[in-house]
Amino acid sequence: MELRTYLYVPPREQEAAEAQGAQWDPRARKWYVPEGRDSEPFKAWLPLWEEERDLHINGPIFVAEAKTTCWSCGEKTPVVALATEMLDENGDPYICTLLEVEEIPSALSLLFQRHYDFFKKSFSEVGEIVCYMNHCRCGASQDDWHLHDEPGGCFFPLSPEEAMTILLRRIPSSESLVFNAAYSVSTHDFIGCYAARVDLPPDSAPYLAIAPRLGQQPGEPS
Ligand SMILES: [Zn+2]
Repeated sequence: MELRTYLYVPPREQEAAEAQGAQWDPRARKWYVPEGRDSEPFKAWLPLWEEERDLHINGPIFVAEAKTTCWSCGEKTPVVALATEMLDENGDPYICTLLEVEEIPSALSLLFQRHYDFFKKSFSEVGEIVCYMNHCRCGASQDDWHLHDEPGGCFFPLSPEEAMTILLRRIPSSESLVFNAAYSVSTHDFIGCYAARVDLPPDSAPYLAIAPRLGQQPGEPS
């Protein structure tokens, strides 16, 4: 059986998606690309798609907060990662994290300056590019490679217990945002299943240049 490609269709775009041929899965309550069809005409509704070096995210966006041990001074230091949801073949969401973020969309830049000023541009020795990286209070940069792609790295938990130390803050967004970044998907959705979920702190609203999104799930087709 072929795996379904599920879509994030905002309620106001359901007619357009249906006209394009998208089909409705009443069990998963989601639209999907009909089996055998190319997903290209539907890419505006794919949870995440890439064009050249740009990553377009239609799904919800999170800031994942965690702590790591600084390789330089040995102290515990806060680290963050941008994350989004993908949809598996059952239409169930799972979390993937972004790494080597070269640009933060302007809609989010004030938020990061205000709340996460330790996440700033640096040269990554591993990726050999200038990108956003976490910095310890001692000044040492914490390479995304170690945080996201090494099993046991704080954004690559290997157990529910490790994932429970992560806090996922959902950023309300009403539009697709474009990131210049790569993304990482782990085999088990430990972050999605076990990380604590909270909204952004109330005082962060003035730092978001985007309107709140009202429910990300599509309703029944009309
Ligand atoms: Zn340090």
